[in-house]
Amino acid sequence: MKTFRCTCGNTLYFENTQCVQCGRKLGFLPDVLTLSALEPADQGQYLALAPEADGRHYKACLNYSAQDACNWMVPVDDPEPYCIACRLNQVIPNLEKPGNRALWIRVEQRKRRLVYDLRRYRLPVFPQSSHPDTGLAFAFLEDNPGDLEFADSHQGSQIMTGHANGLITINIAEADDVERERMRLQMNEQQRTLLGHFRHESGHYYWDRLVANGPFLARVRDLFGDERQDYTQALNNYYNNGPPANWQNTHVSAYASSHPWEDWAECWAHLLQITDTLETAVAIGLAPPEAMDSDMDKRIAQWVKLALKINLINRSLDQPDPYPFVLSPPVVDKLKLVDEIIRHSGFTP
Ligand SMILES: [Zn+2]
Ligand SMILES: [Zn+2]
Ligand SMILES: [Zn+2]
Repeated sequence: MKTFRCTCGNTLYFENTQCVQCGRKLGFLPDVLTLSALEPADQGQYLALAPEADGRHYKACLNYSAQDACNWMVPVDDPEPYCIACRLNQVIPNLEKPGNRALWIRVEQRKRRLVYDLRRYRLPVFPQSSHPDTGLAFAFLEDNPGDLEFADSHQGSQIMTGHANGLITINIAEADDVERERMRLQMNEQQRTLLGHFRHESGHYYWDRLVANGPFLARVRDLFGDERQDYTQALNNYYNNGPPANWQNTHVSAYASSHPWEDWAECWAHLLQITDTLETAVAIGLAPPEAMDSDMDKRIAQWVKLALKINLINRSLDQPDPYPFVLSPPVVDKLKLVDEIIRHSGFTP
């Protein structure tokens, strides 16, 4: 993630809504991927002061003006009330229920980070509401404990985070730190984060868009395995028997070994995570500019150095390693292929 600059000279960060130096209201302009100071104009509109905006006017996303749950803007000539991230929402939690609002706001923050990740890679992000067959949508749902006794006959009582036909479902309990850590330990995972769920599930969506029936399918099968093997059986096998011995030599995580689709989604999530963190490190002077080189070998080399530094700093703070993974040569090859596919795909919705 980049840092941004207010018209007063102050450094701004992605989640900011007001400049602490000059007091100006701020808004993120998704069309130019920049956070901008805003000058109120007529009819509730704003003049964006960032040079990238070229003097254009915007309105605040409805989730910004009415809910304080977003800080993105909508160009005034766009008739939609919601920003490009919020218009992906198909279902949001019941905000009347105590606690849900705080969880939802965390979920929305991570979703905006994901959309930034995707747009930085110039990946198309279109809502299912306008593109029913190829668009992306989100459902943020909660378990309904009262229904759990009927769980067998009552689908939807226990919400599974996952992806199906462009719809990404996130169980909002994943925004609860205690609950997420409990799940991480139960599932024996090295890392479990809310943003990680968004990145992983988006990998399944873009597999359908960029790989299925596309020119890269043979090469993907070569590296990740044949995805036509029975998915349910593969997952059951993984949950019953665990990952194969020495999975670290071939896979980025234990779960990635469960099925080629999961391997792809895990590598996709790692690539987004690595790229975003490198961009942050360059922006704040922790890594040299070549860390964002389009050459993946250079980028991975910089990442390995940076990940070690981040882990060591966290050990001094008595925190767990934020990046407890080893990138073996086969994993690096997979990351490089994912990067190549993203850059060379001609996907249009
Ligand atoms: Zn300012
Ligand atoms: Zn929004
Ligand atoms: Zn998955």
